[in-house]
Amino acid sequence: MEDTSYNPFMMAQKQFDNAAELLELDPATRDLLRVPLREYQFSIPVRMDDGQVKIFRGFRVQHNDARGPGKGGIRFHPQETINTVRALSMWMTWKCAVVDIPLGGAKGGIICDPHNLSLLEQEKLCRGWIRQLAKNVGPLSDVPAPDVMTNSQHMLWMLDEYETIHGGKYPGFITGKPVGMGGSLGRTEATGYGVMITVREAMKELEIDLQKTTASFQGFGNVSQHAIELYQQMGGTPVCVSCWIQKEQKAYSFFKKDGFDLKQLLAITNHFGEIDKAKAQDLGFELLPGDAWLEQDVDLLVPAALENQITGESVNKISQQVKIIAEGANGPTTPEADLVIKERGIHVIPDFLANAGGVTCSYFEQVQSNQNYYWAKEETLGKLDQKMTTAYLDVSNFATKNKLYMRDAAYMISVDRVAKACKARGWV
Ligand code: NAD
Repeated sequence: MEDTSYNPFMMAQKQFDNAAELLELDPATRDLLRVPLREYQFSIPVRMDDGQVKIFRGFRVQHNDARGPGKGGIRFHPQETINTVRALSMWMTWKCAVVDIPLGGAKGGIICDPHNLSLLEQEKLCRGWIRQLAKNVGPLSDVPAPDVMTNSQHMLWMLDEYETIHGGKYPGFITGKPVGMGGSLGRTEATGYGVMITVREAMKELEIDLQKTTASFQGFGNVSQHAIELYQQMGGTPVCVSCWIQKEQKAYSFFKKDGFDLKQLLAITNHFGEIDKAKAQDLGFELLPGDAWLEQDVDLLVPAALENQITGESVNKISQQVKIIAEGANGPTTPEADLVIKERGIHVIPDFLANAGGVTCSYFEQVQSNQNYYWAKEETLGKLDQKMTTAYLDVSNFATKNKLYMRDAAYMISVDRVAKACKARGWV
């Protein structure tokens, strides 16, 4: 399953090396932070509905927990690799540090395609993942959450298995739970809203009138849908969105010159974020190739699907009109493409800052679950806005003061915070 052509972990290490160089980190701290503290790889046997046993591969990587318990999602993806999980766990460490929440970085995954699994098979898979890891994760050590193709139901099955094994109630063990079962109001919206809170602040800073802007989005899942929702509420005009069509194993972009209505599009989208092509055309959408979302004459680009999407090859298709790229997805831009974007002076809101709203709200959920006391939605979203705004301003002020690229500034702030925590603990 390992994709040898693209290694996101090498990309994450390259980004870290750059930050380490800028911060003039000592060799031991570099050695410590370049690789995960711990990683688990295991098999999960599942008796399928047809009676056959199928073995799935599972992962959990804990990159660093000097600032607090590990935190990070679990992805279900047919092309999942250990290197993707390693990279994502490292990015989680920087993400928690950039928004200054007391958590470390971790990530997990299972190589599987939930499109082809019944609900019962998915439940067995979730419980199997926990059985393999029950001693190595927990509310005080490593707190999982949903991510690509996992949801609140998966989290609840995992919590139930964890509580059965440990014999007690531990609602703070996992986040992204259903509301009413320990979940936090606002979690569903948090990542997408967080992306747009940082965009709002960036536009203020760059003196761009958000209400006169247009935007194009890659992906139409949880992150993208809520980013579009807040963008529209603030008066922006989304004109293009892309998604993956499972049956064709191919992505398409959906374009409407004068802007589209989110509610209309949601009504023709399934829960995997897959838009019905024929119905979209009936609604007046132009159907374009999968990568066309990147080529539109818009002010704002939001890659919010997968990693490795803006590459050395595709970066030159970005229109001269684009002023801001807000990375909703993790690692959507390769280092090669990043150099071009930097030279062109496009304002990048890097992934681990732009999409940190999810983990911030997960942290809020953890706090609420541990206290068994839940906040109103407005309170949660208000706290989210405060955290995201502060984090954005910390990074942009540091970037302006030191004449740095936004990604470099974000890395320097985060890596410095984690390095200081490791030093304070006497690890290096
Ligand atoms: P999701 O599964 O809800 O949606 C993914 C969307 O991307 C779907 O619309 C799918 O059709 C589309 N897609 C997949 N492959 C595509 C391709 N090649 N071209 C175009 N579209 C494609 O996932 P999500 O939760 O929205 O997460 C999206 C990204 O954001 C991932 O990189 C994830 O790691 C990151 N992220 C998510 C959260 C969160 O809270 N959900 C938090 C931080 C980061």
